[in-house]
Amino acid sequence: MGWIVISILSGYARVAMLPFKLIYDDGYDLHLGAHVFPSQKYRLVREALLQEHLANESDFIAPAAAADEDVLRVHEHDYVHKLKTGTLNYLEILRMEVAYSKELVNACWLGAGGSIEAGKRALADGCAVNIGGGFHHAYPGHGEGFCVLHDVAIAIRRLQSDGAIKTAMTIDTDVHQGNGTAAIFANDSSVFTFSIHQENNYPYPKPPSNLDANLPDGTDDESYLTILEAHLVRAFEMFCPDLMFYIAGADPYREDQLGGLALTMEGLRRRDDMVFDHARRHGVPNAVTLAGGYARRVADTVRIHVNTILAARDAMLQQSARSTG
Ligand SMILES: [Zn+2]
Repeated sequence: MGWIVISILSGYARVAMLPFKLIYDDGYDLHLGAHVFPSQKYRLVREALLQEHLANESDFIAPAAAADEDVLRVHEHDYVHKLKTGTLNYLEILRMEVAYSKELVNACWLGAGGSIEAGKRALADGCAVNIGGGFHHAYPGHGEGFCVLHDVAIAIRRLQSDGAIKTAMTIDTDVHQGNGTAAIFANDSSVFTFSIHQENNYPYPKPPSNLDANLPDGTDDESYLTILEAHLVRAFEMFCPDLMFYIAGADPYREDQLGGLALTMEGLRRRDDMVFDHARRHGVPNAVTLAGGYARRVADTVRIHVNTILAARDAMLQQSARSTG
């Protein structure tokens, strides 16, 4: 009898609990030590999902590292060479704001592979989440603001090269403007970039996205959500993509050390619901990346990221309830 119960339970554990895949690898950890960027957060998000029985092992898949060919569709040859050979100069490393290491380079190639996988899986399943990525400050020829490789741009270029998509939209709700994204796709009509961020914060200058919402310091839940709703309506009026990449930064949170907005945990959850709702209404598959998050308590950053995954889940469950109802 006991054996039967155990075999049923272990069989249950192999059944996926989420309607999409979570892409994760222990190698995502950037090993930054006491840095303000809690690079262990990826592992903590995974652990929270497992411990709270929101996901089980079969919901996770490990990515392959991006191929250099994929990286070179976005990044300059000289920069990639310096990264791979450890020959960045002092100023280049200073601008990245993270210490150079072999582990860092491996984590970046893996994170980019994770966003490629998320894009592919989103096209197949309607949604996928890379529990990593969102390094939206990386430029073709340099890294900055904790971002080394622009994983989302690498994924978009790879999927376009495969013929899997023609067009994409980036929706970036990190508190910092997506300057790398804006710069990379500045003259590319196949990719629409939208960023909603705090105006009076890094980066300076802010190269224009296709659509930018520059928010004043201290913007609260209600103001934020009103502005986000209006901009999402406008973005999808202007452009209907084959695939959306959601860069879901946790740093608009009022307790964030590097952000100056005043969103609550609940407001951030409503933000996520709103983004997924717009994607669903337009029938656009979405690939999620996590981006920044520097709350005083790392547990808060982890909770905000977990909530984004739950919002993606609930949006998909609502969608399937509607289509079968
Ligand atoms: Zn940020």
